[in-house]
Amino acid sequence: MDFTWTPEEQAFRQRLKDFLAESLPPDWERFAEHGPASPALTRFAEQFCGKLAEQQLLTPHWPEAIGGLGLDPWHQTVLAEEMWIAGEPRGGQYMNVNWIGPTLIRYGTEAQKARYLPPIAAGRALWCQGFSEPGSGSDLASLRTRAVLEGDHYRVNGQKIWTSYAGLADTCFLLCRTSDDRKRGISILLVPMDTPGITVRQIPSLIGEGDIHEVFFDDMRVPREALFGEEGQAWEIIAYSLVNERLGIPRYSLARAALDRAVAILREQGRWTGEAVKIEAAHAAALCEAARTASYAIVTRRAAGETIGAESSSARFATVMAERRVAEFVVEHLPEALADAHPYLKMHHQRGIVAGIAAGAAEIQLNIIATDVLKLPREPR
Ligand SMILES: Cc1cc2nc3c(=O)[nH]c(=O)nc-3n(C[C@H](O)[C@H](O)[C@H](O)COP(=O)(O)OP(=O)(O)OC[C@H]3O[C@@H](n4cnc5c(N)ncnc54)[C@H](O)[C@@H]3O)c2cc1C
Repeated sequence: MDFTWTPEEQAFRQRLKDFLAESLPPDWERFAEHGPASPALTRFAEQFCGKLAEQQLLTPHWPEAIGGLGLDPWHQTVLAEEMWIAGEPRGGQYMNVNWIGPTLIRYGTEAQKARYLPPIAAGRALWCQGFSEPGSGSDLASLRTRAVLEGDHYRVNGQKIWTSYAGLADTCFLLCRTSDDRKRGISILLVPMDTPGITVRQIPSLIGEGDIHEVFFDDMRVPREALFGEEGQAWEIIAYSLVNERLGIPRYSLARAALDRAVAILREQGRWTGEAVKIEAAHAAALCEAARTASYAIVTRRAAGETIGAESSSARFATVMAERRVAEFVVEHLPEALADAHPYLKMHHQRGIVAGIAAGAAEIQLNIIATDVLKLPREPR
């Protein structure tokens, strides 16, 4: 594999760096402490994504027919890396461009595409992802929120939990049970969040204000056109979405940038002395580069048009290990960063500590690697 960036890709990266330097306010790193789903950052992200859209930098990897530039997965990777290094100023909208948009493009009806894609491409949409329920996180197929078709409407009852962005989102990508079959009984509804019968309650979070929520559905009714894909097709659709989600968040780039920042501070302050700190920094750097390489191996296959499946779990697991090691390094050697001394390191720590839980627990990734990649035998039950 050849991981040398082409001159054109390097120019694309520089263009993004210049854009970020011009568009982020001077106090951005402290501002980002509000948290990615906070009202302040959501308002900022709308303005920021609008500017990205004007420069054709919000969805450059989308097909040209729907407002993208048709750029390949390497450009998508460069874009995501630069955004993460900067602390992800797109806020919750990263989700729209990474996986909600591409999933709509692949599985949506013409009416759904016409309704939902233009606001995403313009940087004006905020979605939330209604998957997890109390008791149905890792075991997602056990979810119980039920949608019953009554004439031309679905009536929905149930509860979601840990839903990011739900407090401000305009649309929910909602998983519901439409029959008792464990996996083939799950369907997707695209639900406007102002539909009567939805109640959202915020849960306090380490990542900042407005981050995670409980969402209750009490006799909520949506037209049957809200069904996304076929009834019972959710499992197939989310398998496609989750690969995009896992690869679309190159947290290793933020982890590496945080590590470099921590080392620079230690040097400046005369604390870069002794073997231990250097060995630990080298170990953390090696994990960041291992995660980058694991991700690039998959991007290479994607760029060649291959379908990616369970292998994306390896890249995600490697990334979680890297983030955790960098977070531990900072706690050990620069603990004051977690108070108020170094907002960039605090922001990395806040986001890093949940990395192995959100979007699927790290242990579950290991299970997937064991069974679907390494083909190890399952324990007899
Ligand atoms: C910051 C944050 C944001 C989130 N945002 C969203 C969101 O927007 N939408 C959404 O739907 N969900 C969201 N989640 C929920 C997230 O997807 C779940 O927390 C995750 O899937 C784990 O599910 P759980 O919390 O029910 O834990 P459990 O499934 O109960 O797991 C608890 C522990 O047991 C381990 N475990 C469970 N089963 C196994 C097994 N079979 N083998 C080995 N170990 C196992 C897990 O690894 C974990 O360590 C978010 C979570 C966080 C922390």
